[in-house]
Amino acid sequence: MKKISKCILCCEKLAGTDRKVTDHFCTGKKFDLLICPGCELIYTSPLPSKDKIGEFYRFSGYVSHSEKPGNFFQRIYFFIRKIMIKKKIRFIKPHLGDSKRILDYGSGTGVFLARCIKNNFNAFGYEPDDRAGNIAREKIGSDVMLSLQDIDNQQLEKFDMVTLWHVLEHIYDLDPAMKRFNRILRDKGMLVLALPNYESFDASYYKELWGGYDVPRHLYHFNFNAIKVLAKKYGYVLLKARPLVFDSYFVSLLSEKYKKNPIFIARAMLIGLISNLYGLMGFKPYSSMVYFLKKQETITPEMEASEE
Ligand SMILES: [Zn+2]
Repeated sequence: MKKISKCILCCEKLAGTDRKVTDHFCTGKKFDLLICPGCELIYTSPLPSKDKIGEFYRFSGYVSHSEKPGNFFQRIYFFIRKIMIKKKIRFIKPHLGDSKRILDYGSGTGVFLARCIKNNFNAFGYEPDDRAGNIAREKIGSDVMLSLQDIDNQQLEKFDMVTLWHVLEHIYDLDPAMKRFNRILRDKGMLVLALPNYESFDASYYKELWGGYDVPRHLYHFNFNAIKVLAKKYGYVLLKARPLVFDSYFVSLLSEKYKKNPIFIARAMLIGLISNLYGLMGFKPYSSMVYFLKKQETITPEMEASEE
């Protein structure tokens, strides 16, 4: 376990919060949440060490790396994923350049990638989990990269877009990853980040039982301000954000399960709906959003320096 004391984004000293969050999926271990007073990014603490983090993914059917739905939650997840994939393609299409070169970072079993290829995008994937990555390779072929080295070797032609669908919050080495995105994206290229927001209505309703915390697999927890600081630090402007309206229902279902509520489906649908209404009216941020970060031409060598 690794204690972190300073913010990766703005170097401020982290402060404690009153929330202790449990790993409901895998180990039952409790983790603290520390907040950066500067940028408001929240950190899971302590962080599992880099070589031990894999243990927290080893429970039966880590859902985004599964191929076939098993239990109730997986069925719901697969249903939502099917609808959302079409929506994601619609979101990104206007921002792809002529070459339509896209890298899906953390591509899982390649469901989104397969849809990109169907749309004639020049799509590549990166998946560090061997099992999920190999499933994607069977579908798509060698354009699914299994190591960071493979990405770095791809640098002859830069990408128009790098997408991370609920992936950034899992990345252990955040700073080197952001610098890598700068190296592989063309100028004015787009970094697309889908992230949960800990200031949403569902997050404030469920508090420490909020499914969006998913500790310690989620190492960081973003709000709107933290995303803006991240964008600025690495040379991006936040162009726009789009809500992922189904996420509030799925996260509420998970949260109700943790609460062991017998009428969990009805309650989760209600909380998910209220969360979306709060988002729509601007009272609180949506449960999850997709952020479009446009790379600026003012990137300095330090913003893309390799330190690994
Ligand atoms: Zn900070």
